Parts: sequence; C-alpha cells; structure tokens
Amino acid sequence: MNQPTTLQGMLKGKCPRCRQGDVFETSVFNVAKPFKMHRNCPHCNLHYEMEPGFFYGSMYVSYAISVIILATCGVSVAYLVKGATIWTYITAVTVATLLTFPFNFRFSRVAWMYLFVSYEPEAEEK
Ligand SMILES: [Zn+2]
Repeated sequence: MNQPTTLQGMLKGKCPRCRQGDVFETSVFNVAKPFKMHRNCPHCNLHYEMEPGFFYGSMYVSYAISVIILATCGVSVAYLVKGATIWTYITAVTVATLLTFPFNFRFSRVAWMYLFVSYEPEAEEK
C-alpha cells in the first residue's frame, strides 16, 4: 500500500496516526459545514481532541499562515498595483484572508495534531 508522507497527510486532512481516515466530515468547499470534524478517526479510532481546548493551540499555526498571507499580499500589491493606497493593501489582505480562511482553519488543526501524534501505519481499530 502506498504510504502518504507527512505533508501529503496534512494537505489531504488525514488522521495523524494512520493517515487513512479523514479528519473532517465534509469537503473544504462544502459551504454549509466546512469545519465539521469527526470526533474519532473513522479508520483507527484516534480521538482527535486529545484534551479539552486542544485545538486552541492550532491558532499559533493559523497565525503563522495568516502572516505569510499578509506578506504575500503586501508584496503582490506593491509590485502589481501602481499608486496603491493603504486601502488597496487593506482590501487585498482582507479578501485574501477571508477566501483562504476555510483552508487555513482546517490545515491549522491538522498540522497541530501532527505535532503531537506519531505515525503508526499499522494502526487499526483500538
Ligand atoms: Zn486514524
């Protein structure tokens, strides 16, 4: 069986332990419930929220991604828009942040779990 790498597992939103089960119940493009998570991994039954408030830590990851988005937007506007005002920058950053929010939210939670759970390819129902 093809073993996904850590980055592939994170980008696909797979369980950090088995990298088979999905973390989220719906697609990121599901407008109604883009953030609905499984409580446990459908494949290995890992409980995703390891302790109460576990996912508060994912805000550190989300913040880092937001800073990257802000920097990328700032540089892009500076190079692409002649005569840009402060409002051009604010609008570009706001739009980019809102459009990438679902991806940022989901990736941050998955990446945070990957920091604390080691990969066990043979993990099955426990
Ligand atoms: Zn799993």
